Amino acid sequence: MLKKGSKLYSVLHNKCPRCQEGDFFQSSASLTFKNNLKIHEKCSSCGLKYMIEPSFFYGAMYVSYALTVAMAVAVFVICYLIGLELIPAFIAIVIILVVSNPFVMRISRLLYINMFVHFQKKKIK
Ligand SMILES: [Zn+2]
Repeated sequence: MLKKGSKLYSVLHNKCPRCQEGDFFQSSASLTFKNNLKIHEKCSSCGLKYMIEPSFFYGAMYVSYALTVAMAVAVFVICYLIGLELIPAFIAIVIILVVSNPFVMRISRLLYINMFVHFQKKKIK
């Protein structure tokens, strides 16, 4: 369904944004925070240095913020449509955001690096 070459492929499959072959994160997604955000220093396939500049991934905070607000609004609308009161809807939003936080942080880093690095078919190394 998702073909290699699209940015969504890189984001959803935890792959290098340039060659889409090497892994981006060292481990697969999990609810534990311990190794969740550890990225490889560079791509094992094309050699792309993931930390483009010092503190590069601070910018991913803004992506994470946008995703979190979008999810909170979506959960609120769903709660409103099924007729939940304000306090239970707020509790549902908090639970959804806390549980999804490790995944949102990973996805926002991948989205952020995909904004700056584009797919290249040819091998760079
Ligand atoms: Zn690569």
